Amino acid sequence: MKLKVVILSTASIAVLAAAFTFVPVTLALPPAQVGSLPPATPPAGMSIYALPTGEYEARASLAFRGGPWSEVRRFASTAVLITHPKGNVLIDAGFGRRVDEHMRLIPALQRSPHKALVAVADQLRAASIPINKIAAIIPTHVHWDHISGIDDLPDVPVLVTAAGKRSIDLGVVGTEVIKSFRNIKYQLYAFEDGEYLGFPSSHDVWGDGSIVIVPAPGHTSDSVVVFVALPSGVRYALIGDLVWQSEGFNLPAEKPWMLRRLIGENDQAVHMDIARLRAAVQKYPQIKVIPAHDMSATSSLPGLLNTLQ
Ligand SMILES: [Zn+2]
Repeated sequence: MKLKVVILSTASIAVLAAAFTFVPVTLALPPAQVGSLPPATPPAGMSIYALPTGEYEARASLAFRGGPWSEVRRFASTAVLITHPKGNVLIDAGFGRRVDEHMRLIPALQRSPHKALVAVADQLRAASIPINKIAAIIPTHVHWDHISGIDDLPDVPVLVTAAGKRSIDLGVVGTEVIKSFRNIKYQLYAFEDGEYLGFPSSHDVWGDGSIVIVPAPGHTSDSVVVFVALPSGVRYALIGDLVWQSEGFNLPAEKPWMLRRLIGENDQAVHMDIARLRAAVQKYPQIKVIPAHDMSATSSLPGLLNTLQ
């Protein structure tokens, strides 16, 4: 009898877990105030480019709650290059030349079928941009699919916060691949600048408002959002893995429960940051939100190789 109770409760838990994971529910968000549009004086000639380095597949049902089981999504793994007279900056580094080796370092459950394209280091060379003309790499967070390409760029400083560096040193879950790189030149930064579109603090990379990093510790504790303001007036919010596909932002919808727990996401922080960004976009439609893995969003940026060749 006792055994039956245990079996029933295990089954109930499984049903509940599946329900929380796959049943579509519109995400209720907290209220958010974003204030005025932060000033920016981006220099003429500043540009943004997408460097697609590969893709992998995941069912839409695993990308956002309510996504159809039958649909397989292509997840982009794309680095973004921002050219700037004070120094060119890469946001994320995508799949590197040795991505297959890197993938073997992560738990088997997290590996998925993937296709590697041209690594960032090779795209830069093809575009005649010397590696020493890249001032810094800013990872949106240090999961393998965002930093594998750093392995091919050993002399480029990687910007992390002191807390992010500590996580890597401690080898917390998700830092396996970056921790395996022996030649990284880390450069620490802090969020010493003020409030930015509702985010409590920020780091203005070149002091002109053109590239501004804000903390977004929801997907992982080291996650950030990078805002880019171009001379044209267009602004981008590179939101990393705050959501995996645009539906997560537009509906809005959470990631499936099981995956959030596996990653160790902070749900409240994710909800707050989605709320801030949705309020920002509603008030300032010149801001385009780019989730790192949404193929249609990343493809909307000019491609480095097809633009410069
Ligand atoms: Zn990712």
